[in-house]
Amino acid sequence: LSNSTEANASAFLAACRAAIGESQVLTAEGDKHRFERDFWNQYRGRAAAVLRPGATEEVARIAALAAAHGIALVPQGGNTGLVNGGVPDASGAEVVLSLERMNKVRAIDASGDHMIVEAGCVLDAVQQAAAEAGRFFPLAMGSSGSCRIGGNLSTNAGGINVLRYGMARDLVLGLEVVLADGSVLDLLRPLRKDNTGYDLKQLFIGAEGTLGIITAAALRLVAIPRERVTAWLAVERPEDAIALFKRSRDSFGELISAFEMLCAPGVELAVAELPNVQRPVERRTPWYVLMDVAWMFESGLRARVEATLAEFLEAGLCIDGAIAETEAQRANMWRIREGQSEAASKHGYIIRSDVTVPIAEIPKLLSEIDSWRGRIPDEVTVLPFGHVGDGNLHVNFLVPAPRAQELYDPLLERLYDTVDRLRGSISAEHGIGRAKRRAVWARKPGAALELSARIKRALDPSNRLNPGVVIDPSEL
Ligand SMILES: Cc1cc2nc3c(=O)[nH]c(=O)nc-3n(C[C@H](O)[C@H](O)[C@H](O)COP(=O)(O)OP(=O)(O)OC[C@H]3O[C@@H](n4cnc5c(N)ncnc54)[C@H](O)[C@@H]3O)c2cc1C
Repeated sequence: LSNSTEANASAFLAACRAAIGESQVLTAEGDKHRFERDFWNQYRGRAAAVLRPGATEEVARIAALAAAHGIALVPQGGNTGLVNGGVPDASGAEVVLSLERMNKVRAIDASGDHMIVEAGCVLDAVQQAAAEAGRFFPLAMGSSGSCRIGGNLSTNAGGINVLRYGMARDLVLGLEVVLADGSVLDLLRPLRKDNTGYDLKQLFIGAEGTLGIITAAALRLVAIPRERVTAWLAVERPEDAIALFKRSRDSFGELISAFEMLCAPGVELAVAELPNVQRPVERRTPWYVLMDVAWMFESGLRARVEATLAEFLEAGLCIDGAIAETEAQRANMWRIREGQSEAASKHGYIIRSDVTVPIAEIPKLLSEIDSWRGRIPDEVTVLPFGHVGDGNLHVNFLVPAPRAQELYDPLLERLYDTVDRLRGSISAEHGIGRAKRRAVWARKPGAALELSARIKRALDPSNRLNPGVVIDPSEL
């Protein structure tokens, strides 16, 4: 950094120390370390400093100071994002704005079915607080113990209950946001209905910290389902899984909260690598389905699911199946699903993807991928799994670590080309970050890029909020 840039950064940090307290401005290498890399240690950068404000007014003060000094801010939640959006770049000039100290539940209204939480609340803690109030907050994913609600909303996260409850966006009633100039936009009213002009909060949901800093949210709660049935089905072909999904929807409609599909190699890795994980059914098939169904009554659902599974078996749509008898069995089934990446990562580097196609096209997507055998290196193991009920598959490629860099782009481009032909999207729920920026915009109409750049310029004219993430107006 040049002398004048360094002097400017020092002046900014001195002002931040005065604004939020000496101890919440981290500049020592050891202190910054964990904020400079993501959950999987896949993306790394360097921060000039890490700021840990404890209140909305402090975030506002920091944003105003950053605007005055021309400092780039990288908002950060739990750092579990998968697209390189929450860690600083390599320049060493960006400043991480961690929301982790803003972790209070401000209010819960069980009869009004909402809660108001600060952006730094860990997702697990939000679910827990809702449960203690006799309510259910349905957003859930494998990273729930680490990700924070501000990050969830900024990525418009999906997860395992999207089928029934929607994406993060569908669970938000109101937001509090600090804008690039340090003003506070208070849209925190917990209203179901509010047709008073543009729904501005939606701009910030899924914006990955590029349009404002979310400091608090009013979240929608629902009643706790009393009976939950989890089933594991062994199937021969993706077509059968899709047929099962259709038949299950006919039988259970909105009661299905999760409908996941896993490939045999991924399940075998999970059984081999994850401690205390057992195969739910002995029968080995190329594909497995994991389904969660829940309703408000105390009992009666299990018998219905059993009867439906018997019909599926009879019709030959599945070869074998099991219903979890105990919480431990349910946890075991879900551990196999959620431990897919963890288990595979013990065998090499994982090139992750998050694609979506119309549900009916999933078998075509998978048969295309199958046809790559012989055209991609033999050492690549393709591990597709995910939220098949949403049309969203994580097609992960397990590759030997030394070959990861060389294989990264060719494998993803091959996948993305197929997804394009099936009229899908290359990011279903993880967002764009820096990792997918070029690939995403290469696929969108020019008018969408132009309009997005106009929105970015309107809200962040000096490009100081997470520059290079989602959109780079200078690339226009
Ligand atoms: C094991 C595992 C399983 C996962 N499963 C799923 C899944 O099923 N579905 C899914 O959608 N994702 C999943 N993810 C991805 C990830 O957990 C989500 O993207 C999550 O929403 C990110 O939250 P975070 O707090 O970690 O955000 P971070 O990683 O800290 O940040 C993500 C983005 O949001 C921005 N940001 C963070 N906080 C704020 C804020 N307060 N205001 C403005 N911008 C902000 C950051 O700048 C960054 O661009 C998984 C990740 C892991 C590691």
